[in-house]
Amino acid sequence: MARRDPLMDRLREVLGTAGCRVTQQRIEVYRAVADSRSHPSVAEVHECVRRRLPTVSLDTVYRTLWKLSELGLISTVNKSGEKARFDADLVRHHHFTCARCGGTFDFESEELDGLKVPDEAWKLGRVWGARLDVRGLCLSCCGDDETTGSGASKREVRG
Ligand SMILES: [Zn+2]
Ligand SMILES: [Zn+2]
Repeated sequence: MARRDPLMDRLREVLGTAGCRVTQQRIEVYRAVADSRSHPSVAEVHECVRRRLPTVSLDTVYRTLWKLSELGLISTVNKSGEKARFDADLVRHHHFTCARCGGTFDFESEELDGLKVPDEAWKLGRVWGARLDVRGLCLSCCGDDETTGSGASKREVRG
């Protein structure tokens, strides 16, 4: 590994600042989330980490993920315990979450990045950034709708 790895630089820096040790588990868990483009679940991260650290337990992966998210290295897409999905949050982006299949898709928007974080949020603590969570039906779930004949998405828009 001669090539500089900004990902690992960031991990070391943040762990160091927080007084946490840089362990192989933390490195592998962070890498698994960062390498994934699909917001992996705890089980998916575990599956991936196990290829390099065969003895690592699901519980360890779970605790490591929450530790990394506490440190702001990764973020959670879906907060609720077992269903939580993780995101390395390397570039600023927002999410479109499908209400039917639960898929979460990234999108970028300069317009949203420029939004001012309201004072109400600042009253609650120090703000690091803001992300918009758009909800709806993803394209493939919309497609399912059409076959059931609702036709709502076929409406013509006239200028
Ligand atoms: Zn969907
Ligand atoms: Zn994301």
